[in-house]
Amino acid sequence: MVEIKERLARVQLLIEEAAKRSGRPAKEITLVAVTKGVPPERVLEAKEAGLRLFGENRIQEAKEKIPKVVDPAVEWHLVGHLQSNKVSDALSLFSLIHSVDSVRLAERISRESEQRGRVTPALLEVNISGEPQKYGFLPEAIYTAIDAIKDFPGIRISGLMGMAPNDPDKEKKREAFKKLRNLFSVCRSFKGERLEMKYLSMGMSGDFETAIEEGSNMVRLGRILFG
Ligand SMILES: *Cc1c(COP(=O)(O)O)cnc(C)c1O
Repeated sequence: MVEIKERLARVQLLIEEAAKRSGRPAKEITLVAVTKGVPPERVLEAKEAGLRLFGENRIQEAKEKIPKVVDPAVEWHLVGHLQSNKVSDALSLFSLIHSVDSVRLAERISRESEQRGRVTPALLEVNISGEPQKYGFLPEAIYTAIDAIKDFPGIRISGLMGMAPNDPDKEKKREAFKKLRNLFSVCRSFKGERLEMKYLSMGMSGDFETAIEEGSNMVRLGRILFG
């Protein structure tokens, strides 16, 4: 088994090269190491290798794993779909939710955050793949969604997230990333007290270099780091 350290070094190099191609320094790209299916011991190995930011896509798995990786230096993001009845768990476990895909869910996050006296940062997920089975706001619905959500007192909109279509054609992926990047650019000009369009979360193991070339500043990588 190739060590996580070696895999990470290789990934960092690829990120750096892709960032360079997009005219940005690598430090502008945040790497979220997605640990779904990865046991806590290997998360700790990844921490030893220098990773501090991890992502999970299921509440149940996160609930079992995160307490086994107690470390104040480590932060966790929720990258997968969140059901309304799991919001409370999500708020206890994660510092950023990448997957807000309805106004109703945002309202619930806001309400429960207010009860805890906090404001929760979250990304709005956009369905850029055109695949009906994928979660997320439709691209044309994102402006109305932001308009509704930006006044909820317990949630801060910190950016957008999207997934490219499962298409071997790289250009289809690139088109999807371009679309999200354009939405992001428009959304950045919106004003709101808790509106801070900072993160464009796009790119997974199979397509992160293309995503970075198209403007991503947050990539979510699982397989390429953990095998
Ligand atoms: C699993 C997952 C990832 C990471 O995917 P890899 O292909 O393993 O890099 C990224 N984002 C989400 C939402 C995921 O569920």
